[in-house]
Formats: sequence, C-alpha cells, structure tokens
Amino acid sequence: MPELPEVETIRRDLSRLIIGARIVDVIVSLSKFVSPRRLFEQRLVGRRITSLKRYGKLLVFALDGNYALQVHLKMTGQIVLRHKGKVLFGGHPIAGLLEVPNRYTHLTISLSTGDVLYVNDLRQFGYAKLFTTEDSQKIVSRFGIDPLLPSFTFAVFEGLLKKATGRTVKAFLLDQSKMSGLGNIYTDESCFAASIKPTRRAGTLTGAEQKKLYKNIRAILKCAVAKRGTTSSTYERTYTKAGSYTRYLKVYGRAGKPCQRCGRPLSKARVSGRGTVYCFYCQA
Ligand SMILES: [Zn+2]
Repeated sequence: MPELPEVETIRRDLSRLIIGARIVDVIVSLSKFVSPRRLFEQRLVGRRITSLKRYGKLLVFALDGNYALQVHLKMTGQIVLRHKGKVLFGGHPIAGLLEVPNRYTHLTISLSTGDVLYVNDLRQFGYAKLFTTEDSQKIVSRFGIDPLLPSFTFAVFEGLLKKATGRTVKAFLLDQSKMSGLGNIYTDESCFAASIKPTRRAGTLTGAEQKKLYKNIRAILKCAVAKRGTTSSTYERTYTKAGSYTRYLKVYGRAGKPCQRCGRPLSKARVSGRGTVYCFYCQA
C-alpha cells in the first residue's frame, strides 16, 4: 500500500511534468472508480492543472475553474504518466505488467503536453473524486496532522497520545484522523526503531518511549522520502528510479526472519486488523 513516502514521491515526480498542463481528454473505464459518475469527464476536460498537493496519502490535483480532483491509491493503486515513450510510475507494483493502459486502468487523462496519466488499481479500493475547491478543502481539513510538517511537534504528538490511552500503539499510529500518512510499513518500522511493541496500549508508554517513537516516526519518514519510498516498478521502460527504502526495512515483510538486533525470529501478529511484524525480545 502506498504510504506517505510513496505518495510524496509520486507527487514530486508528477509535479515537474503536469503543472500548467490542460486536460484534453478523459476516459473512465470503471465508473465506480470515479465520482460524480455523471458529468465527471465533461467537468474535467478543458481544466488546467494548477498544483498537486498531498494530504497524508491523498493526492489533490488543483484545477482552474474552482475544481479539485482527489485521487486515493488505497491498497493497490498506481499512477503512471506516459511521457515521451517512457513511463513515470508511482504506487503499488503489479507483477507481470509491462504496458499502459492495461486491464487495471480505470481512468485515463490526456494532457495538452502530449503526456497521458493513467490511474490503475488491481483491487479497486482507490478512487478519483472531483470536488469544488471549497468541498475538497473541507474534506482535507478533517485529516490528521501530516507527521512531516514542522508543526508536528512532540507536544502535538503527546497531546494526541493522551486522547488515545486505551488503544494499541499500532491502532493509534494508523488512525488517519490523528496523523495522516502512516500505514502498515512505517508503523511497524517506527515501533521497532523505538523498541516498542505495536500491541502496547498507548497509555502505557513512558515519557522517554513517547519521545523515542516521535523521533523515529519523523526520521523514518524523512529517510523513506529521500529514498523514494518502498516501491518498485514492473513497467518495462520507466523514467523513475524504484524506491530503495526496501533495503532499510527492519521488520516489515520479514516475519520469521532473524531480528537484525538480537538474531531471534521476528514475530507476526494481527493488530487492528493488520498483519504486524515485531521482535518479541527487542520491543518492550
Ligand atoms: Zn530482536
């Protein structure tokens, strides 16, 4: 699932190429993927893309004429931009895919620059929703704080924890209305780095543990953004370098493998409905 670092990587890559471009054609191949289903294409065609912003894991394409297109990739979404015969890829890789459009392409947007933007989604949990600028702002204002913003201070984090004392650390970190952008990968990595079991109740964390968790969330996200996240492309010819954070993963995807600190096998548990990997011995 694309999380904050992966979505931020897509945003940066796309921004260089699509800002200022006008939408000249729109094809919706799966009507339930878009909203509103009626007039979606008509309202988009002719609009100019004025900016591309990220709120947690949500991408918002600001358009002239007071519109905003919100795209969420959820579990298996990906965005591909065809640019001069090559593609620029971001999001969840789908094995065996070499070309766009393909059977998972639900939305195709052609731009005045000649580039074409494809939104693909294997499991169809993602969406593309068109709103007025005002309605779009109302929606993103309900999102939790972005942990990469300078305004996300330790005092803010401490305040959020105080309101979540009975919840597991994992559930708290995944709650997008508290902090937005963390998913399964970076919650497990942050908990390991802070030596805290994701199954702990938030209220049991000591002051030192809270600080350690806060620092590690920031450090891990910053590093992951710098490494272009944890992604790889399955497309044949791409401009984009794959995300190299995979090399830095200590627990995610490593259940049963030796802990890099103590050498004992990493445990796997289900916490708030998500597969969770941690070291029983190194994490208190
Ligand atoms: Zn260990």
